[in-house]
Amino acid sequence: MLGDELSSYHFGKEHPFGPKRYWAFKEEFESRFLNNGQLDKNVLLHTPQQATKEQLALFHTQDYIDKVKTLSAKGEGYLDCGDTPARQGIYESARFVVGTTLKAIDLIMQGDCHFAFSPIAGIHHATRHSAAGFCVFNDCGIAIEYLRKKYKLQRIAYIDIDAHHGDGVFYEFEDDPDLCFVDFHQDGATLYPGTGFINETGKDKAIGTKLNIPLPPNSTDKIAKALWQSAEAFIEKFKPEFILLQCGADSLGGDPITQLNLTSDFHAYVTSRLVLLANKHCEGRLLAMGGGGYNLDNIKSAWNDVIENLI
Ligand SMILES: [Zn+2]
Repeated sequence: MLGDELSSYHFGKEHPFGPKRYWAFKEEFESRFLNNGQLDKNVLLHTPQQATKEQLALFHTQDYIDKVKTLSAKGEGYLDCGDTPARQGIYESARFVVGTTLKAIDLIMQGDCHFAFSPIAGIHHATRHSAAGFCVFNDCGIAIEYLRKKYKLQRIAYIDIDAHHGDGVFYEFEDDPDLCFVDFHQDGATLYPGTGFINETGKDKAIGTKLNIPLPPNSTDKIAKALWQSAEAFIEKFKPEFILLQCGADSLGGDPITQLNLTSDFHAYVTSRLVLLANKHCEGRLLAMGGGGYNLDNIKSAWNDVIENLI
């Protein structure tokens, strides 16, 4: 999914979540996948679309949607306790993020493609009723509800390799036995949002359907790949009907706001393994969402390595 509308989802030119993230990705994407001005024959480009209010309401409360709309028109203050600024126009921009994720799902479900990637997506901290950590509308949570409502799928696997725990997905589906949740992240004792401990395995009927894998600061690919084996067995046993991957680039070494030391090789490896699982269990239905990442070189390599492995 590619279109400059996605670059409008940001919180200011000097903010870590600035507009340059999208442009960095796009520059590298074009240099890798455009040969002599020709797009790689295995890649289809689709433009962003804006989500409707009804689509936002598949996951978010009406009160919260109205609050974002009002504060976005004013363009001042915060949408949460002080992490996520109410930038003017953020309501419209966030609807582009969500709408593009949902369009990617439609393309996969209608057979236009097997795998899809959207760079400005994977906005995993927002809860049903609040923004959090640069996340306005949680396109991951909306995607799960959308797959169920529109396509009647139940068993969905959500895999998250962003440095931050995907708390907005985890807690909102903590008691949902049909949501398989696997999350590699920097140990919550050392990084925002301070959650995702190993003993958080789901609630009530959903106990045993969530796998949190906290990594100590400075963890390398070797450590993460060794732990991936159990994650893969966990997903395999669940037999998902659709796989969502949040492939945040902030888990790579050199990110300015996190302390893991992975390389894009881990992102490539996880993608290649998930492609195999998707082909085996869910007719190759896999959507990857860019997620976080605040070092532009890491965004270029991690996200484009994911695409290369999807191809
Ligand atoms: Zn992150």
